[in-house]
Amino acid sequence: MRFDAAVLRSAEDRFGVEEVLLHAGPAADEILVRIAGCGMCRTDLAVRGSAGRSPLPAVLGHEGAGTVVETGGPHTGLSEGDHVVLSYDSCGHCQNCLNAAPSYCDSFAALNLFGGRQENAARFTDAAGKVLAPRWFGQSSFAEYAMVPARNAVRVDPALPVELLGPLGCGFLTGAGAVLNSFGAGPGQTVAVFGAGAVGLAAVMAATASGAATVAVDQYPERLALAERYGATPLPATTTDLPTRVRQLTDGGAHFALDTTAAPALINAALRSLRPTGRLGLVARLHTTLPIEPGALDRGRTISHICEGDAVPGLLIPRLIRLWQAGRFPFHELIRTYPLADINEAERDCEAGRVVKPVVLPRERNR
Ligand SMILES: [Zn+2]
Ligand SMILES: [Zn+2]
Repeated sequence: MRFDAAVLRSAEDRFGVEEVLLHAGPAADEILVRIAGCGMCRTDLAVRGSAGRSPLPAVLGHEGAGTVVETGGPHTGLSEGDHVVLSYDSCGHCQNCLNAAPSYCDSFAALNLFGGRQENAARFTDAAGKVLAPRWFGQSSFAEYAMVPARNAVRVDPALPVELLGPLGCGFLTGAGAVLNSFGAGPGQTVAVFGAGAVGLAAVMAATASGAATVAVDQYPERLALAERYGATPLPATTTDLPTRVRQLTDGGAHFALDTTAAPALINAALRSLRPTGRLGLVARLHTTLPIEPGALDRGRTISHICEGDAVPGLLIPRLIRLWQAGRFPFHELIRTYPLADINEAERDCEAGRVVKPVVLPRERNR
């Protein structure tokens, strides 16, 4: 079949919307999904800086959602017409997958970042027959259609606005999951969020929903205003002696801190903002060594990386939808939609901080 997709040919190129071909239908464990909307996440844009580790040309996009149009059979547990939110891929049989920790799958990088499952690898090509990377995060959803392992699709109520739900599969899942799963934050506890983009604001919303108090640190006044709207005490990143200020606001230090910036200075500030035995979670990929200042890790403080919010997507995505329906996780307010043809504008707005969460709509022709 032929359909339109945004192809990234090299790290320096803009996305090019062009016709691509899928030369075979779904295998027994796959579904074909007509994409209604796909969020843009920092990890999509980080491919430009991945030094060739993620194969190109490729169709990126890993926050897709849409309608199942064909299945490989009953084995998938899904039917034609089902609405699904797509998340990351995992193997299903390594130790961490068996232990309900699929984001720590032994094959996570291979399946999600470095080309994906190699079966039927050559079936996805451009119009000239050049082979595209088989799959990005088990999907490749900056496209009208995506061929997806059924394992990473979560069925949702067809009454919901499916075109907006894709970011629940990665960015919002990551922030909310860190607070709800990794930290288990609750009433009377405090969470300091460093970086109030899509992941950080989802963390603020989830913390507020669970009764925890939050402090949010960011460089953009508009993002601090959003964080405040969702319940956080806003703090500009330029605040003098940031850790002392956070400790004052959290009655002696935050129980938990989440860093979404990967900036070593802010990571050290986050550690110093914690109370004794407090925990810092990192969600962004570090691109430099991380110097830890003397004393920053003292008194039982811990630091760890958190991948995909420690979430089992089939459990956390329905939970976030229920919170959204209750008015306690208003993620839709962070979204701005773009036709697929305007994907480069979405990237520019994202890089400039003009939009929190772009969602591209492959089926919208003009605005
Ligand atoms: Zn696994
Ligand atoms: Zn992502």
